[in-house]
Amino acid sequence: MTMQEAYQQGEKLLVQAQIPDARLDAWYLLEHVTGVSRAMYYAMPDKELSEEQADQYSDFISRRAAHIPLQHLTGEQEFMGLTFRVNEHVLIPRQDTELVVEEALKIMESCSEAEYPAGKADDSKKQDFRVLDMCTGSGCILLSVLYHAGKDKKCGNLKMAGTGADISEEALEAARINAELLNIEAEFIHSDLFDAAEGRFELIVSNPPYIRTDEISKLQDEVQGHDPWIALDGKEDGLYFYRKIISGAGGYLSDGGHLVFEIGFDQADAVSTLMRDAGFRDIMVKKDLAGLDRAVIGVYDR
Ligand code: GLN
Repeated sequence: MTMQEAYQQGEKLLVQAQIPDARLDAWYLLEHVTGVSRAMYYAMPDKELSEEQADQYSDFISRRAAHIPLQHLTGEQEFMGLTFRVNEHVLIPRQDTELVVEEALKIMESCSEAEYPAGKADDSKKQDFRVLDMCTGSGCILLSVLYHAGKDKKCGNLKMAGTGADISEEALEAARINAELLNIEAEFIHSDLFDAAEGRFELIVSNPPYIRTDEISKLQDEVQGHDPWIALDGKEDGLYFYRKIISGAGGYLSDGGHLVFEIGFDQADAVSTLMRDAGFRDIMVKKDLAGLDRAVIGVYDR
């Protein structure tokens, strides 16, 4: 079978199964199986697949047609320009969540520039900057924050350290693998929220589970059927983890430390109020690319 024949057949089956991005998914799977990029493909659509590749491709296509998420087949998802390994134990990184990383990076850059021009502090004068990612899952937020903050000495005056916390051992294993593959130094701790956290952090980031329990069944099949329930379920009113994290954060933030949350599109008021009531100041709501409220940020004075 040629690449072109395989692709056309794959696309047809995914269209029949009403997979929303059928063409794209048929393509990604073919690329994953053959290692042939799109540009290379157009130069040689008649290249033959080996028998093994053809079998693997048709297996992927039938599983995708059964609505298994693409990322569970390829085992990876791109996020903030990095490739993360994913599996059924972690929430697949969403593009919306990149906003949380971008806001965290802005905070870190302004802290880095506060006392010295970019990258000018010698090692002894670098400011400790510890980042805690609460409910880290695949580690995608923490690792991309550390990666991008470290790139081009963007936060060159900071001595950064990162901790990811999660209650799921399986998620921590995925996060540790991602740290190793991306060659980023970070620690991952098994912790029920702050239980095993130690010390103070200049920044806490979190994309906690925030879907109301009775709304989970209304999510797309691929989300409710394949993303881990514990990564989605924000309990009765969806705010359970915000309450817990906000009330605990004061004990773990340094003076003037920042808290950055991802939120559901209709949670900005509730989460801002919880933060204000807990003594946070300078609370800001940020919108994602779709124009929906997606992040809330606040500062804590001890
Ligand atoms: N944004 C996720 C979704 O697609 C929910 C993630 C979460 O609960 N933190 O449903």
